[in-house]
Amino acid sequence: MISGIIASPGVAFGKALLLEEENIIVNKKKILHKEIENEINRFYIARKKSLKQLKKIQIKTKKNLGKKKEEIFESHILLLEDIELEKEVLYLIKKKNFSAELSIKKIINNQIKSLKKIKDEYLRNRIIDIQDIGKRLLKNILNINTSRLKNISQKSILIAQDLTPSETAQINLKNIIGFITEIGSKTSHTSIMARSLEIPAIVGTKNITKIVKNEDFIILNGLTNNIIINPSIKEIKKFKKLQKKYLKNKKKLMSLKNLPTITKDGIKIEIGANIGNCEDVSRAKKYGAECIGLYRTEFLFMDRNNLPSEEEQYKAYKLVTKKVNNGYVIIRTMDIGGDKNLSYMKFPKEENPFLGWRAIRVSIDRIEILNNQLKAILRASAFGKVKILFPMIISLEEVLFLKKKIKILKKELSSKNIKFDKKIEIGVMIETPSSALIAKNLAKEVDFFSIGTNDLTQYTLAVDRGNDLISHLYNPLHPAVLKLIKKVINASHKEGKWTSICGELAGEKKSTALLLGLKIDKLSMNPSSIPYIKQIIRKSNFKKAKELAKKVLNESSSKKILKLIKKFNDRLKIF
Ligand code: PEP
Ligand code: MG
Repeated sequence: MISGIIASPGVAFGKALLLEEENIIVNKKKILHKEIENEINRFYIARKKSLKQLKKIQIKTKKNLGKKKEEIFESHILLLEDIELEKEVLYLIKKKNFSAELSIKKIINNQIKSLKKIKDEYLRNRIIDIQDIGKRLLKNILNINTSRLKNISQKSILIAQDLTPSETAQINLKNIIGFITEIGSKTSHTSIMARSLEIPAIVGTKNITKIVKNEDFIILNGLTNNIIINPSIKEIKKFKKLQKKYLKNKKKLMSLKNLPTITKDGIKIEIGANIGNCEDVSRAKKYGAECIGLYRTEFLFMDRNNLPSEEEQYKAYKLVTKKVNNGYVIIRTMDIGGDKNLSYMKFPKEENPFLGWRAIRVSIDRIEILNNQLKAILRASAFGKVKILFPMIISLEEVLFLKKKIKILKKELSSKNIKFDKKIEIGVMIETPSSALIAKNLAKEVDFFSIGTNDLTQYTLAVDRGNDLISHLYNPLHPAVLKLIKKVINASHKEGKWTSICGELAGEKKSTALLLGLKIDKLSMNPSSIPYIKQIIRKSNFKKAKELAKKVLNESSSKKILKLIKKFNDRLKIF
């Protein structure tokens, strides 16, 4: 049995279709001076051919997968047309006497090398894009026509070391019933594609291509994360049953999409989605999100060579705002720092980056960044309902400063006759013990709180959220964290304000009843978790949930808290 990372849930049965790795050999021999012009031409011809191919794929993708997926290829086209890439190629050919193919290989390898150093998952996924473009250019320079994607004529589970976005786009998807790859993460393109097509997928299996042979019969269990090769009849029967149950439940869950998120005794909880870009809004809507409870804007700042201008940001926020139409979007100012650095900005070497120059601290120190972002958000607010959210707040002074800043920027926009929502709401993230402890004071100054339980847990327990060594200590249901959450909710209610949770805890099924009992107003989560949480809330009774919360808050042992929650969930048959 093999496992990996569940990229798209579901169960699939079928024959394995193994995609061999392509080996493109690049000769390292240097060129002669008289060959320079010819090599430059070879590069330009290959680039032109690549652009033509990509435009074709883009059209096909739009037809098969919808407008949003085509954007991946738009970014490939932009990368190919990048003036810096062209300059570098010309430099290597002219000054280093490299052939066109060797120049491309060097540039691509260097870019990948520097991206590999970055911890951020989104940016690391960029490696696949770069590899994809590099491969295409190399194949076109060397006139290699082979495609490892033969005509897929029978229903198959596609198994590969990795799949580039353009390969995924060219596959005859009608015959693909599952994806398994060795490389990849939840946010890699194959995973995103598989999720939007609702095809089960497991990525990051490390060595599957060495174990599976073409035509092996495979069970891909993307529910409990295992892959069985050539299973017994008994196993097939067992998983067929599981698949049937899963599909039935999924249908039932999706039928809740347009129903209100309300408990049996009439308490309404608003459920929102967390997004990182405009594309995610479609997913949010598909799963029935009522609003965008957290828009992480830092992705707009990454994966590029300079800071995004006010205009660029404005366009991006406006697009999201318009797309959200009925609901609202909470735009969080960028949360850079910690493990998310920007290649084009100087970051100091810090001993403890998570306790260092991060999020609002960067925005306040580099005031032009804050000004541009706030102006862009304000301008977007003329096109729909927008709320502003500030991350990593630790003090009242910060909040007062930020409010004053918004007031000044509003005046500036007004003087230029630029439209914005004059009553735009302002909220702060509660991610630090300090902000939770002074929630009473902060509640007087802001319109809402959004609890970032990912960071609140890490800072309260002094447990790095990304450190495997201590991951067993990372527990958002620790009594200390729960007490802080309760304190924050109470403080907001006292001032007639509301509190949302937008950390991962919001989408954890086992915690829903407890959060309900703690009187949370809103929950914002990964879009695919929404139907599950909605179902639980619709099955729950607020009064009983309050009793559970009371018992939990009186308990000081994490183990006992878990037991109480489990007992409650079991009794209510929540799962
Ligand atoms: C959090 O800390 O819970 C949160 C939602 O913010 P992020 O995960 O982006 O740090
Ligand atoms: Mg956070």
